[in-house]
Amino acid sequence: MELNVGEWRHATASILSIGDELVRGQTLDTNSKWLADRLSLAGIEVVEHATVDDDERRIARALERLGAATDLIVVTGGLGPTADDLTRFSLARVLSGGPDADRASLATDADSLEQLKTWFAGRGKPIPEANAVQALCPAGATMLANDNGTAPGLHAAIDRLACDVFCLPGPPRELQPMFARYIEPTLRGAGRGVSGVRLLLTFGLGESAVADPIGPLMDRDRPDRGLPLIGTTASRGVVTCRIRHTATDETTLRDALDHAEDELRAILGPAVFDRRDPAKGDDIDVTLALPATLIDLCRDAGARLVTAESCSAGLLASMIADVPGASDVLSAGWLTYANEAKTSMLGVPADTIKAHGAVSSEVARAMASGALERGCDLDPAVRFAAAITGIAGPGGGTEEKPVGTVWIAVADRVTGEIDPRRFLFKGNRLAVREWSARAAMGMVRLALLGENMELLGEVERLGAKAFT
Ligand code: AMP
Ligand code: MG
Repeated sequence: MELNVGEWRHATASILSIGDELVRGQTLDTNSKWLADRLSLAGIEVVEHATVDDDERRIARALERLGAATDLIVVTGGLGPTADDLTRFSLARVLSGGPDADRASLATDADSLEQLKTWFAGRGKPIPEANAVQALCPAGATMLANDNGTAPGLHAAIDRLACDVFCLPGPPRELQPMFARYIEPTLRGAGRGVSGVRLLLTFGLGESAVADPIGPLMDRDRPDRGLPLIGTTASRGVVTCRIRHTATDETTLRDALDHAEDELRAILGPAVFDRRDPAKGDDIDVTLALPATLIDLCRDAGARLVTAESCSAGLLASMIADVPGASDVLSAGWLTYANEAKTSMLGVPADTIKAHGAVSSEVARAMASGALERGCDLDPAVRFAAAITGIAGPGGGTEEKPVGTVWIAVADRVTGEIDPRRFLFKGNRLAVREWSARAAMGMVRLALLGENMELLGEVERLGAKAFT
C-alpha cells in the first residue's frame, strides 16, 4: 500500500503514548522504548516522548504541540472500541484546524469495516456494535490495516504543521508488525543514510571513572562535526559506552564505529570486556554479559574453574551456570557457609578460622587453595578456584569488618598465585552477594588475561554505591 506521506524530511520524530494506565503508573510504557529504538536505528532523531491520559482534548493538544516541533509523530494506544479510546477523535480535531477545533468529520471506511466483519466472522461472531467505531476515519486520514487485532491504525500528513502522524494500536504484538509494514518503508530519515550503535561493556570502573578519562569523546556536538556520539549507562555493575553514528553508507558507518571503539579501548584498556552491535530491537542482557565473556575466555584457554562460596552461597556458580555452555568451563563448586564446612569440605584449618575470623584474607586463601586442590583431583583441566567469604548483613558487622566486607581469592594453578582482595560493598544483602559474585568473575578474567587486579580498585573502594 502506497502511503501519501508529506513532502518534508523525517529528520526528527516524537512518540506519543496514550492511556490512563500508563500515566497513572499501572502499565510500563514499553512501546515508546521499542519505537524509539527502531526509529533511531532508521536514522531518525527521536527528540521527545510524551504520555497523555485518555482525554480527547489533551491528546489533541499533545498532537498539535509535537506536530509543530517534529517532522513525525508515532502515536500508540487509544484505538480500541471503548469510550476511553479517543485517539481517532483527537486526530480529527487537529486535522480540522487545531486541538480546540470541533472534530473534523469522521466517516466509516468501507474496507476497514469489511476487515472488522471478516475478523469477527473468523471467530464465528457478528461484529459487536461497539467495534464499528474502529472503522471511523477522520477526513484527511488513511486507515492502516491490522492483521493481528481489530484496531486499524491511522496515517495523516498534516500540511499545516509539516508533520506526518501515524497512530498505532497499543498491544505490542499489533503495533510492531504495523510499524514494520507502514512506517519503516516510508521513513525518509535525515537524508544522511544508515545508522548504527555499538556497545562497549566495561567492568571494574564506576560510571564516572569511565566517563572522566573519555570526557572529550562525550561532547554532545560531535554529530554536528560528523563524529559518533558517545554516552555511558550503568547497570548491574556493568558500565556500557554506547557509540551511535549515522553515515552515508555501511562501510563509512563501520569505519567510524571502529575508530571510536579504538579510541575508547586505548583509554579504558582491560576494563572493556565485551562489545556488541545490537541488531534492531535487541536488548543486551547485561547480567549475562560478564559470565558469558568469562566462559568464552576460559573455554578458549582450555581452563576450567571451581568455586568455593560462603556468603554468596552458590550465587557465583549460579551466575556462571545461567549462560548456555557453562558446562564447558564450570567443573564443581563448594557451598561452605558454616565454619565446619570450610574445614571439612575444603580443608581450611580450624586454627586459621579461629585466629583470623571466617571473613579474612587467610580464610579466603585457604578456601581457594583447598578448592583448587580438590578440583584438580576431580578434573585435571581445572586451572582456577574462586573463593568468596564475607558479611552480607544486615547483622554481623563490626567496626573492623563492617557489613559488606568481602574477601575474594582466586587461585591459579598455572601461575601458582593466590592474591586475596578485600572489597567493601554497599547495599543490601542481595547486592553484597551479587557484587561478590561479579567481582570474583572480574578477578578470574583478569587473572586469565594476566592483567593487573588493581583495575578492581574502583570496585573495592566504591562497591555498589558507584553502580546500580
Ligand atoms: P489501547 O490500544 O489503548 O486499547 O491499548 C491496549 C493495550 O495495549 C493496553 O491495555 C496495554 O496492555 C497495551 N498497551 C497500550 N499502550 C502501551 C504502551 N505504550 N506500552 C506497552 N503496552 C501498551
Ligand atoms: Mg487505552
